[in-house]
Formats: sequence, structure tokens, C-alpha cells
Amino acid sequence: MTNIPQTLEAITQQIQLACLECSRKPQLVKLLAVSKRQSSNAIEVAFTAGQRAFGENYVQEALEKQVILSHLPIEWHLIGPLQRNKAKKAANAFDWIHTINDADLATRLSTARSTNKPPLNLLIQVNAHDESSKAGICRETLLYLAKTIQSLERVRLRGIMAIPPRVSGFTEQCENFAPIVEAFEQLCRHYPECDTLSMGMSADFKAAICQGSTMIRVGEAIFGARSD
Ligand SMILES: *Cc1c(COP(=O)(O)O)cnc(C)c1O
Repeated sequence: MTNIPQTLEAITQQIQLACLECSRKPQLVKLLAVSKRQSSNAIEVAFTAGQRAFGENYVQEALEKQVILSHLPIEWHLIGPLQRNKAKKAANAFDWIHTINDADLATRLSTARSTNKPPLNLLIQVNAHDESSKAGICRETLLYLAKTIQSLERVRLRGIMAIPPRVSGFTEQCENFAPIVEAFEQLCRHYPECDTLSMGMSADFKAAICQGSTMIRVGEAIFGARSD
């Protein structure tokens, strides 16, 4: 079994090292622990070790874990695709949603978000490499969608999220992130309040940090291999 406190500590050190190497402040890189298909117990172990933000891919799976873990003040992120018919449930089950790719979805989330809660944090998913197999919008429509989100009451646009194609080698990974960084910079020029660039996973988070990521989404490097 994976020693979760130990892997978390190791990743925290790797984040600090990566920041040192590229002259960034480690406080500006947030670690999101991706807990999809991991047990509630594993999440609790990570929480006890100090981890606060967790990412889930499926609404139903997250809701079940939230019932079991309701005694813990966890910050919940949805990082998997969100269907319209689940928007109402998702709007009040998460603190962040990383996978916004159309105005209708954002509007539904805003309408459903409870007035007792702070506005829901949203990231626009950008498909910067125009991969047909992946969700996300193309860069040309980014500002248009951002404008709609900005006009909504109960949500707050925080930035973008992307899952680039898998490549290996540090230099290749850095190049791979470049079009995503360009999209983020374009967004920030128009919406300077945007502060979040969600990119980088277990295999490439060091390169992501050096390219300016502010939120890395790490699953297997914390929890070990996922069981299917
Ligand atoms: C599963 C997943 C991750 C984490 O991937 P690892 O390789 O386990 O670090 C990050 N982001 C998204 C969108 C995912 O679906």
C-alpha cells in the first residue's frame, strides 16, 4: 500500500525544488490531490496529512464520498466532464469546476448555486492542441465564453484548465504547455482578476510549474496506481 503522507511530503518537496529552479514562489502553486477511484479512507489519510483540496472526475462518485467525509472541511474540485443534466447537483457539491466549455453550462451552474455559499469558482477548459478526442474549447472562442461567465451572478471566473497530449522529456513537456500558457495570458489581459492556470499531472507537473502553472492536479503520484 502507498504511504500517502510520505508521497505527499515528497511531492511538496518536488514542488519547492521546481519553484526554486524557475524562481517562482512555492505558495503560488497549489496542489490538487486527484482522488478519483480512490477510497474515502485514502482521502481522509491525505487530509490528516495536511492536504485540503481534492479533485474528482465523476459527480456521483464525489457525492458519495462527500457524505462519508462530511466531517472534514475539504475543498472539492470537479475535474471531469460535466453533463448539463448534472449541473444542478454539481453547482452546490463543489467549490471549483475545471471543465466549463459552454455558456449554457455556466449559466445553469450560476442559477443553481445557493446564495448561502460563496460564488462557484470556474475554470474554462481549453483544448489548446485542437485534439478531437478531448473536451474543451478552442482558443478563438475563449474570450467569448469568458464574457458570458463574467456576466453571471453566482459564479466567478478564475482562469483556465487544460490537459495537453502526453509527451515525455522535460523540454518537450515545456513546449507542450506553451499554447496553454498563451491562452491563459490572453485571458488575463482581458480579465486581470483571473489567477488560476490548472495544468500539470503526475508525469509532467515539474515542467508545468516551470511554465507558470498555479494548480497542479496530481493523482497516482500521491495515491498510487488506480484500480479500475
Ligand atoms: C486523472 C486526472 C488527473 C491526475 O492524473 P495522474 O496521472 O493520476 O496524476 C489530472 N487531471 C485530470 C483531468 C484527470 O482526469
